[in-house]
Amino acid sequence: MSEHSHQTRMASRKAVIDAKIAQATEERGVLILLKGNGKGKSSSAFGTMARSAGHGKRCAVIQFVKGRRETGEYKFFKDHPLIDWHVMGHGFTWETQDKQQDQAAAQKAWQLAEELLCDDRYDLLVFDELSYMIKYGYLDAAPMVSSLQQRPRHQSVIITGRTMAVPLQDIADTISVVQDERHAFRLGVKAQAGIEY
Ligand code: ATP
Ligand code: MG
Repeated sequence: MSEHSHQTRMASRKAVIDAKIAQATEERGVLILLKGNGKGKSSSAFGTMARSAGHGKRCAVIQFVKGRRETGEYKFFKDHPLIDWHVMGHGFTWETQDKQQDQAAAQKAWQLAEELLCDDRYDLLVFDELSYMIKYGYLDAAPMVSSLQQRPRHQSVIITGRTMAVPLQDIADTISVVQDERHAFRLGVKAQAGIEY
């Protein structure tokens, strides 16, 4: 391509982007859904949280699935003055088989979520793995939708999970699908601290 035609193309592309930027004038909180089978959903959510806290914004996390071990992100963020980190009580782990106990824990965690969704001091909420609670029938999507819709206008929410309930998708502003093209696990690499947890 000649130097001239390259410049012409870049100029017209810039004009298109500038016009789109000029149209996007609204400032408000957004609902972001991060779904799919690939690796990168929770780490993206916590990366965005670091971004927010870096700008002095108050954040909270609720982890709806309790893993076996303390994650690096928990250890790193738990003492940050702008970040409140909640791990769902006794409930759901991949090991438990007690559905009633899991459901009670899920409901308690969602009660907390509702409190945070009413609290205008928070700028960003991360509901990690919330989608599993719907998938396994522990929580209903409908009341979630109304709480999410009634949250403070400036408040953003990120929800992660491999599959997302349609009612949540219907009200989301941003939906990203993390696709699983390859994962080191299938190459025989074990879950490593600092990469997987
Ligand atoms: P991450 O926390 O690394 O961003 P994730 O939130 O996208 O991952 P989850 O579905 O929450 O992924 O899975 C939790 C754990 O499983 C993480 O340790 C993650 O690295 C790992 N994992 C994610 N995708 C895959 C996959 N396709 N195969 C195997 N392990 C995976
Ligand atoms: Mg995750």
